[in-house]
Amino acid sequence: MNNTLYGETIMERIKSFCVDHRVLKQGIYLSRVDDDITTFDIRMTTPNVDKALEPKAAHAIEHIGATLLRNGQYKDHIIYFGPMGCMTGFYLISKDLDLDKINEIVTDLFTQVAKWTGPIPGAVPEECGNYTYMDLEKAKKSAQFFLDAPWEHEYTYL
Ligand SMILES: [Zn+2]
Repeated sequence: MNNTLYGETIMERIKSFCVDHRVLKQGIYLSRVDDDITTFDIRMTTPNVDKALEPKAAHAIEHIGATLLRNGQYKDHIIYFGPMGCMTGFYLISKDLDLDKINEIVTDLFTQVAKWTGPIPGAVPEECGNYTYMDLEKAKKSAQFFLDAPWEHEYTYL
């Protein structure tokens, strides 16, 4: 077990902290499998190298992305889509979908985000807790930046 001292407490280093972020590239990674539920990490920027996502851009991508995924062909296979706290990408939790299918879905998703003309779904006070905290232009640029990169799929662990 990979234990680490946090202050005076030894705790298990959680799985996502065991990914070596120094060699991590843009791409889509299978992060964990829980029976038929699979969590994919969508790494939109190279951690600690590229500029991270603007939080307002990530918020706009979250609204557009979640809406498209829940209306798309695979809507019954999508459990969750939301931003990483480090602002380098998104988590996509799915049911019964493999990496090939996820690649296809994510390519289509970010292509649509990159050319979104608005309005942003759910960007109204009754549907969001911070509805003006969005930047569509930066969201579109970030989506295109991700689409233009070669994608890696294999994590290196510490
Ligand atoms: Zn919101």
